[in-house]
Amino acid sequence: MTKVWIGTNWKMTKTISEGLAYTRELKKLAESITPNIELFIIPSFTSLLPIREELSGSRIKLGAQNMHWEDRGAYTGEISPRMLDEIGIDLIELGHSERRQYYNENDVDINKKVHAALKYGMRPLVCIGESIDQKNNGISKEVLAAQLKVCLKNVTTEQAQHVLIAYEPVWAIGERGIPAEADYVGEIHSFLRKNLVDLYGEKVGQEIPLLYGGSVRLDNFLNYIQQTNVNGLFVGRTAWNMETFSVLLNEL
Ligand code: PGA
Repeated sequence: MTKVWIGTNWKMTKTISEGLAYTRELKKLAESITPNIELFIIPSFTSLLPIREELSGSRIKLGAQNMHWEDRGAYTGEISPRMLDEIGIDLIELGHSERRQYYNENDVDINKKVHAALKYGMRPLVCIGESIDQKNNGISKEVLAAQLKVCLKNVTTEQAQHVLIAYEPVWAIGERGIPAEADYVGEIHSFLRKNLVDLYGEKVGQEIPLLYGGSVRLDNFLNYIQQTNVNGLFVGRTAWNMETFSVLLNEL
């Protein structure tokens, strides 16, 4: 049975109590869904510790939404990999388009964070995606290949086995996002797969999970997940509500 990665980044939405209530429901649901789903949640920093405790003994993996690359230092307002390691994080989301857009994160920063994550044994979930202008100018593939190359610079084949990639076209994300055509997603994922095989060889390149995200909804998720080289879904709004998320999980 091939694994399917399904997870959600809560962005800046849930308080600790809201997050705990959600986690308790998801834990129950996780017991009944197909075991080939690798389920993960990515709460806000303030919720990580209580949710880690709530998840004890559960199959649900825990991630954080961002981190600095330095272990410690004078970086007011930042969280270091050492701090996340103490909590026991499985995944670290890096380079979400909102981080790139509002906080000027670039691929070089993300690459430093990828190395910091690997050093601490956390799996980096690296987000890449083209803007609408880049898509309209016909340069999506070039942009994505460059993002992948810089974000994964000096990541060895051995280390690459711990990396996950999420393709999230900027124009498809959030309230104003336009859901992508499934064929387009399939084409881009095959292109990314080829790039990963070029970088890491056939075996490792084929095994790196490629997730799709951006306006994943109940009326389109099956079309995305059926595409070759889509190994999972990175879900925002549809997963924040247990009513819709449970429908999605039960149909996989
Ligand atoms: P969305 O968010 O599903 O609400 O569009 C996706 C994301 O930002 O990862």
